[in-house]
Amino acid sequence: MSNAEVVLQATNLSKTFLAGRAGLSRVRVSAVDDVTLTVHRGESLGIVGESGCGKTTLARMLVGLEKPDAGRIEVGGKDVGSLRAAGRRALSRDIQMVFQDPYTSLNPRLTVFDLIAEPLTVHRIQAKQSARRERVAELLEMVNLSPDMMSRFPHQFSGGQRQRIGIARAIALEPRVLVCDEPVSALDVSVQAQVVNLLRSLQSRLGIALVFIAHDLAVVRHVSDRTAVMYLGKMVETAATADLFTQPSHPYTQALLSASPQVDRRRTRKMAQRIMLPGDPPSPINPPTGCRFHTRCHLATSICSSDQPEYVEVGGDHLAACHHTDRARSQIAQVVEDVTSSATGGSST
Ligand code: SF4
Repeated sequence: MSNAEVVLQATNLSKTFLAGRAGLSRVRVSAVDDVTLTVHRGESLGIVGESGCGKTTLARMLVGLEKPDAGRIEVGGKDVGSLRAAGRRALSRDIQMVFQDPYTSLNPRLTVFDLIAEPLTVHRIQAKQSARRERVAELLEMVNLSPDMMSRFPHQFSGGQRQRIGIARAIALEPRVLVCDEPVSALDVSVQAQVVNLLRSLQSRLGIALVFIAHDLAVVRHVSDRTAVMYLGKMVETAATADLFTQPSHPYTQALLSASPQVDRRRTRKMAQRIMLPGDPPSPINPPTGCRFHTRCHLATSICSSDQPEYVEVGGDHLAACHHTDRARSQIAQVVEDVTSSATGGSST
């Protein structure tokens, strides 16, 4: 467990949305259910899961764009829920967001200067226009764009350049935490790596903590010190990234890895032979009882459909919410043994 200062603590967060009406009753979608996470200064936490698992709702709650129905969020030790409007505005200096879509997240009527200077204006930082121009020029250089571009409009830039502008705006206030919601998924593959590497270098240069949300496991593995896996609104496994990718202990994580050939082709091919993830995730309007994954899990037993699993510590800082982590881990151990054996021509026992 890291000894670094905790900059973001979310505890038992839940959020539902009204999905419609059935007769006289309201139908609600459970987007995030009882999620707890901790982020330390300067570290990066990756959050992965299929689309619709609640990642974006979680991100929006963390930065204050959605109000949780239940739970508590602390940024820099301050309870966000107990702050009045002015306190929340001040706190927004500490946590900022990079959005998924660089085409819609920037106001098309504002110049690059106005876009990046806006947070400085709101927080009354560098009141003089000349100082602000200097700061915007500096921020553009930090994201590898020319200061000469500050009088242009967003439509004059490529997707990758727009995302760099969004990042410059997000770091303008030198936040402690940057929440990145699928920041490269709308970009061409050719520029994804550049933006990911930019985020990584800004993180180490400025000491910012990253919450990096993505569905691409290879990207998360590259960026994150720790990784958390979400399924149908629940956090099902969290561990140091190297540990999670080599010793996944929740059947859903194992299935995700087996479906991601770029992570480790040899191992995942073996896993894929055994771990087939049937069907689509169930509807969050009426999530399964007990473990939410039981309708798709090949290790499910009767307890899984009746009792919600608690987190089990499976080693160090590695937690998994499963009744049968022993069986899941022995399955992975078998896969590793098989891969080792086939790599050595069957000489390994
Ligand atoms: Fe599968 Fe049961 Fe574990 Fe859920 S609790 S992941 S259904 S084995």
